[in-house]
Amino acid sequence: MDWTTHFPAFRIKDTTSNIPVKLTKQVEIADIGCGFGGLIVSLSPLYPETLMLGMELRTQVTNYVINRVAALRSQNPLSSGQQTIPPYHNISAIRSNTMKFLPNYFRQHQLSKIFLCFPDPHFKQRKHKARIVSAQLNAEYAYVLKPGGKVYTITDVEELHEWMVKHFEGEEAGDVSELWERVSQEELDADPCVRVMSEETEEGKKVTRNGGTKYIAVFRRRKDPGWP
Ligand code: SAM
Repeated sequence: MDWTTHFPAFRIKDTTSNIPVKLTKQVEIADIGCGFGGLIVSLSPLYPETLMLGMELRTQVTNYVINRVAALRSQNPLSSGQQTIPPYHNISAIRSNTMKFLPNYFRQHQLSKIFLCFPDPHFKQRKHKARIVSAQLNAEYAYVLKPGGKVYTITDVEELHEWMVKHFEGEEAGDVSELWERVSQEELDADPCVRVMSEETEEGKKVTRNGGTKYIAVFRRRKDPGWP
């Protein structure tokens, strides 16, 4: 995957040809089903040196995020001689069906955080296979996350919350259950990402307006069994 067009502020040029060839760092945070991009836009100034990617199925919604990021970048331009890179140059978005293509974008152990914020609940039993949490998909999340990395989940649908918990560490997790441990409430309370996913996502704001409940669960990827 060539990320140089997504994050031009982080490009390194080839010294002989002056052609941008690669980035100084890799994408580390993925927001799966990013919707209108509220999460990455809010996280950007908190972690200005970390590259983040929103991944979204709907073309028009993805284009909205791409335009939103372009507008924010033009309001916070790069200037020569500046020591630090201004915010929003570290975020980008792509249209993709992550259920099919996630491992095409990232190397093994590349990511430090994956966000699954207010995923579509697909209430009917026969639609459960469209949920973005399953034993098989969790194995892919474990593949692209580095040991110690985290999957953040939030939903206002209690049944979906229970589904996600049991597919990460419960009876439905199968072989991958040993790769995940639930992060303690104490650690969540101290994590700024938890506040952002709860309050700055478009869905999070909607749930707040409607007085709904938000169910949060975060899972840390353990080391592979047998690895030092
Ligand atoms: N995360 C955003 C938020 O919290 O405001 C949007 C939540 S919205 C309810 C769920 C989003 O996931 C939709 O924008 C939908 O298009 C996207 N989505 C659903 N399945 C997806 C998939 N397989 N790959 C990428 N995006 C997906």
